[in-house]
Amino acid sequence: MSERTFDVAILGGGPAGYSAAIYAARSGLTAAVFEQGMPGGQITTTDVIENYPGFTSISGAELGDKFREHAEAAGAETVYAMVESVERMPSGAYRLSSGSESYESPTLILATGAVPRTAGFVGEDTFRGRGISYCATCDGMFYRGKKVFVIGGGNAACEEALFLSQIASEVVMVVRRDQFRAPQGVVDKLLEQPNVSVAYSRSIIAVSGGTFISQVTFRNNETGEEYTEEFEEGSIGIFVFAGTKPVVELFSDLVEIADDGGVVTDEGMATKTPGLFAAGDVRSKRLRQVITAAADGAIAATSAYHYVRG
Ligand SMILES: Cc1cc2nc3c(=O)[nH]c(=O)nc-3n(C[C@H](O)[C@H](O)[C@H](O)COP(=O)(O)OP(=O)(O)OC[C@H]3O[C@@H](n4cnc5c(N)ncnc54)[C@H](O)[C@@H]3O)c2cc1C
Repeated sequence: MSERTFDVAILGGGPAGYSAAIYAARSGLTAAVFEQGMPGGQITTTDVIENYPGFTSISGAELGDKFREHAEAAGAETVYAMVESVERMPSGAYRLSSGSESYESPTLILATGAVPRTAGFVGEDTFRGRGISYCATCDGMFYRGKKVFVIGGGNAACEEALFLSQIASEVVMVVRRDQFRAPQGVVDKLLEQPNVSVAYSRSIIAVSGGTFISQVTFRNNETGEEYTEEFEEGSIGIFVFAGTKPVVELFSDLVEIADDGGVVTDEGMATKTPGLFAAGDVRSKRLRQVITAAADGAIAATSAYHYVRG
C-alpha cells in the first residue's frame, strides 16, 4: 500500500471541488481533487449551462473541463480514483483510501455533490437503461424521432426537455402539480417548441413491458383517476428529473445530516468535525447550482487554509 499526503484533500471534482482547489492552491496549500469520473460533476450530463456568469451559453462538459484546467494551472492535482473509505485518524488527520492507495491530509473538503432522485414508480428500476433515463445529454440520441415523457417541473426538467425537443418527435412534460417550478422564461422558451406539450397534475405510477416499455400508467393528481396508455415496445422513453440526493454515505458518521439529506455546515462550510468541511450540492442548502457550489468551494478552501495554518 502506498500513501501520499496533501495539506487539503478535496473529495469530488465538480464545481465545488475545483473551486476549492483553485483557492487552496493559490493560497499555497498542496491540494488534491479526488474524482471517480469525468471532471466537472453533474454539469457534464447537461448540454448547456446558461446561468453561470461570464458564459452566455456553454456546454456542461466544456465548463467542467475549464474548472479542472484552472485548478491544475493554479497548482492543484487531480487524482482519478473512486474513494472507497474516509476515516478520521486518532491524530485528527483524514485518510482516504482507494484500492491499494491511501492519502492523508489534515483537512478534508467534502464535495461529493448529489445524484438524481428516482421518481419511485413501479418498474422504474426494471426499465432503467431500457426506456428510463436520468440524463438527456447521455441518452437523448437513443430517442431520435421517438416520443418521450419528461417527469419534472423544475429548471433541470425544462432545460433537458428543451434539449430533447430537438431530437425526439414529441416531448410530453409530466408535471405533478398544476404549474411548473422553473423560472417563467425557461418555461416560455420550452412551450414555444411545436412538439412539446404538458400533462399538468399528472404522475406516472407504473411502467411495464417486455424488453422495453409498452405500457405506462398515469394518475391524474386532481381527480385520482388512473389510466394506462399502450405503446409499441421501444417507441418511447421516459426521462426522470425529480431532483437530486446528496452523496453522503462514505462519511455520514462524521457529519450531521439535515432533513433534506445534506450535510449541515456553518457559514465557513465547517462541519461538526474539526478540519472537515463540506461544499456544494452535498450540503443542506436552498439553491443547488454551479454558482452556489463554486462559492461554497471558495469559502471551504479559505476555512481549510486557516485550519491548516492555525
Ligand atoms: C441535468 C442537470 C442540469 C443542470 N443544469 C444546471 C444549470 O443549467 N445551471 C446550474 O447552475 N446548475 C445546473 N445543474 C446543477 C449543477 O450541476 C450542480 O448544482 C453542481 O454540479 C453541483 O456541484 P458540486 O461540485 O457540488 O457536485 P457535483 O457536480 O455533483 O460533483 C460531485 C463530484 O464528486 C464525485 N464523487 C462523488 N463521490 C466520489 C467518490 N467516492 N470518489 C471520487 N469522486 C466522487 C462525482 O463523480 C462528481 O464528479 C444541473 C444539474 C443537472 C443534473
